[in-house]
Amino acid sequence: MTDQQWDVIIVGAGSAGLPAAIFAAQRGGRVLQIEADSKIGGTLYLSSGQMSAAGTRIQRKLGIEDSPQAHYDDAQRITHNTIDPILGRLAIDHAAATLDWLIDIGFELAPEAPQCGVTHEPFTVRRYYWGNNLALSILEVLAPVHEKLVAEGKIELRLNTRMNRLIEDDGAVIGVEATDADGATQAFHAANVALTCGGYAANPELWARTNPEQPLCSHTNAFSRGDGLLAAEQLGAQVDGADKYLSTFAGWRDDPEDPMSGQFFSLAPNARRPWEIYVDRSGKRFMREDSQSIDYLENKLLQQPDTKMFIVCDEGIWRNAPPICLLPEAEYRAKFGNHYNFLKADTMDDLAKQMGVDANNLKRSVAAFNTAVDNGKDPEFGREFLLRKIETAPFYAMGAHGITVVSPAGINADGQLRVLRQDGTPIPNLYAAGEVLGFTRLSGNAFVGGMSLTPALTFGRLLGQELIPW
Ligand SMILES: Cc1cc2nc3c(=O)[nH]c(=O)nc-3n(C[C@H](O)[C@H](O)[C@H](O)COP(=O)(O)OP(=O)(O)OC[C@H]3O[C@@H](n4cnc5c(N)ncnc54)[C@H](O)[C@@H]3O)c2cc1C
Repeated sequence: MTDQQWDVIIVGAGSAGLPAAIFAAQRGGRVLQIEADSKIGGTLYLSSGQMSAAGTRIQRKLGIEDSPQAHYDDAQRITHNTIDPILGRLAIDHAAATLDWLIDIGFELAPEAPQCGVTHEPFTVRRYYWGNNLALSILEVLAPVHEKLVAEGKIELRLNTRMNRLIEDDGAVIGVEATDADGATQAFHAANVALTCGGYAANPELWARTNPEQPLCSHTNAFSRGDGLLAAEQLGAQVDGADKYLSTFAGWRDDPEDPMSGQFFSLAPNARRPWEIYVDRSGKRFMREDSQSIDYLENKLLQQPDTKMFIVCDEGIWRNAPPICLLPEAEYRAKFGNHYNFLKADTMDDLAKQMGVDANNLKRSVAAFNTAVDNGKDPEFGREFLLRKIETAPFYAMGAHGITVVSPAGINADGQLRVLRQDGTPIPNLYAAGEVLGFTRLSGNAFVGGMSLTPALTFGRLLGQELIPW
C-alpha cells in the first residue's frame, strides 16, 4: 500500500467508528480503519445499549407523536440547558434515521421498548429504545455488514494497531502514526482522518487532569484511554466539558487501589426502593434516599467529598431487603466482613470505627431515622419509604462511590464534525465522532437516556456519508 492512497482513516472501530467505516466504504471510499483492540466493537461490549430518537418509524407505527424539536427541548430540560446546541441538534435531528437504519439491517427492539425512561430521568414521550441483549444487540447487526465490507476489500481493517499521534503538514492533518502488536510503528496517510477512538475513563492520569476533585471509580472499556483527545490537543484542539461532570449512582472500587475496578450497586429508583440510610463521611444523613429523581440522587452524591457516601443497615434489612448489588447474591453477601468495602459490626460504635466516621453522628442519624419510621414521617429530608428500623445487630455498611462510565471532557467540533482549534477555526482534514467529543457535549450536566450511544452511532453514520459523498 503506497502513501496517500486512503480517502479516510478511521481511528477506532466502536460505536462511532463502525458506522463511519460502513457508510464511507459503501460509497466507494478507500477506507483504512485502525483499531487498538484485537476485535471490533469498543464500548458496545459493555454499554447498556439504550438509545433515544424522535420521529422514528416505530413511533409512527405505535401512534406516538414526537418530533426532533420536542426531543431537543426535553433533553435540554433534563440537562438544565447544558447540551451543546449545535451538536445536540445535529445528533437529535438525525437520530431517527440512525434507529431506522439499525432496524433495516436487522436490529430488533426489546418488546417493552420504546419507553419514556428507565435508568435516567424520563422523557415526556416514549422515545427510549433498546434491544434484547444490551448494546451487543447493536454490535450483532453492525458486525456482519462491516465484516462483509472488510472481506470485499472495501475497508482495510488493522486490528491491534494503536494510533500514537496525528501527522500534520502546515497545520493540516495528513495522516496518523500507529504502532501494531509487534511494536512496529508506521505512518498512514489519507485525505481525511476521523477520530472515533472513544473517551478516556480508562486513563487515570488524564482523569486526574480534567477532574482532580473526583477520584476515578471507573467501569468502562479498557481501551478508552483518551488517545484521540490527546492527539488532537497536540494540534491545538479545544478541549472542554469536564466542569459538567456527573457520576452515576453508585458503586464501589472492588480493589481500593485500582480506579478501573468499579462495580455497580442497584440503587436507581426504577430498580429498587431504599430500605437503608445513606450517610456522609461524617456519619450524617444528607439526602432523601427514596427520591424518585435519579438526577437528584446523582447530584447529592456528586457534592460529597470524593463522591463517596456509606449505605447503612441492620440485620433485619440485610436479610429482608431486595439485593442491593448486581453481583450474584451469595457472592455479595459473602463479602461482608471479608472485603474492605463491605463492613459488618456487632455495635454501631464498631461500625462507625470501621467506616472512619464519627460514632455519635452515626448513632444520632440512626436514632432520628428510627423515630421517623415510628412516626411515619421524616421531618429532616421528607423520605416517605420508611419500612423498617435499623436496630438489630449485626450492623452493616458499604462505601458507595459515584461511578464513571463515560468521560466528561472532549474535543470540540462544528456542525460538520470538523475538529476545532481553541480559536474556533477547524483543523483541516480532522473530524471526530463519539465520546472523544466529551460525554457532556451531548448530554450536558445530567444523564439523558441514549445521549451518548445514539450520537456516537449517528455522527459515525454522518461522517461516513459526508467524507465520501455519493
Ligand atoms: C457500562 C456502560 C453503559 C453505557 N450505557 C449507555 C447507554 O445505555 N446509552 C448511552 O447512550 N450510552 C451508554 N454508554 C456510553 C456509550 O456506550 C459510549 O459513550 C459509546 O459507546 C462510545 O462510543 P465511541 O465510538 O466513542 O467509543 P467506543 O465504542 O469505545 O469505540 C472506540 C474504539 O476506539 C478504539 N481505540 C481507542 N484508542 C485507539 C487508538 N489510539 N488507536 C486505534 N483505536 C483506538 C477502542 O479500542 C474502541 O474500539 C455506556 C457506557 C458504559 C461503559
